[in-house]
Amino acid sequence: MSAVRLGVAGWPVAHSRSPQMQNAALAAAGLRDWRYQLLPLPPELFGETVPALPAAGFRGINVTIPHKQRALELALATGAAVSDRARAIGAVNTLVFGPQRIAAADNTDAPALTAALDRRLPDGLAGATALVLGAGGSARAAVWALLDAGAAQVRVWNRSPQRAQALCDAFDGAIPAGTAQPADILVNCTAVGLDAVAQDAELAELPIDPDALRYRVVVDFVYREGATALFAAARRQGLPAIDGLELLIGQGALSFEQFTGVPADLDAMRAAAAAAGALSSAP
Ligand code: NDP
Repeated sequence: MSAVRLGVAGWPVAHSRSPQMQNAALAAAGLRDWRYQLLPLPPELFGETVPALPAAGFRGINVTIPHKQRALELALATGAAVSDRARAIGAVNTLVFGPQRIAAADNTDAPALTAALDRRLPDGLAGATALVLGAGGSARAAVWALLDAGAAQVRVWNRSPQRAQALCDAFDGAIPAGTAQPADILVNCTAVGLDAVAQDAELAELPIDPDALRYRVVVDFVYREGATALFAAARRQGLPAIDGLELLIGQGALSFEQFTGVPADLDAMRAAAAAAGALSSAP
């Protein structure tokens, strides 16, 4: 019998830890005929290749840089059931296929963040204040997730202020921040931390004082082998901290459940993602 196929489409995508993580979850769920693979797909081929995947045995795919916006456009154009949050965020990271077509599209990055924060904030997110650093794709998901969970105020700082302004124009309740502001939650959605450069130099690129992080919880979307400087600084100060690996596992588990209809074994995913990280330090 031929395998039921899943995969992650990106360009480049060779560094992704998703195959190890998802194949571990498939094994733990006893789905022996299922396989999750890399799908290196240049942008110019995305639109014609993805609709052909269901007929080739694919049940669904994750979508990563640079295809998340294109995946939303494709899902909308082909009449798929697109979740409200994917529409609001403007990005899709999960496509579920029917026998011949894209059946559903979602964004699981946002609920992964909300779930991780809920585990750290016993009183929940309602009424909380947040400072989001960055104005790219992950920042859009973070701002939407925080506002959807009832955050009272979400401020957005970005290196290029006009992008922070544009993001805030898209979300009622988001306000551009010229400098770092005190808040309950700090979320780093910039790419700072990705390169293994000197820790001090890394944090100097962000408008925060690493020795005085006045937040109740710190989130770093970025992850790499060892800790990012921001994650390490939060831990040093005894603050609850969420790293990008926890978010990667969270979004992957939610996608897995949409692909297979069964719960994901988080411990198996975590162990596989961590082991993959020992080989590759990129997300
Ligand atoms: P984008 O390319 O859409 O946005 C990048 C952001 O980083 C922009 O706001 C950009 O600012 C900012 N930036 C880049 N370099 C610097 C710098 N040197 N100093 C200050 N700001 C900088 O990327 P994404 O939003 O998709 O991803 C951001 C990070 O989050 C990546 O590192 C990615 O690996 C990680 N990520 C992790 C996920 C997870 O599951 N853990 C999921 C998605 C992303 P400007 O507008 O000025 O260029």
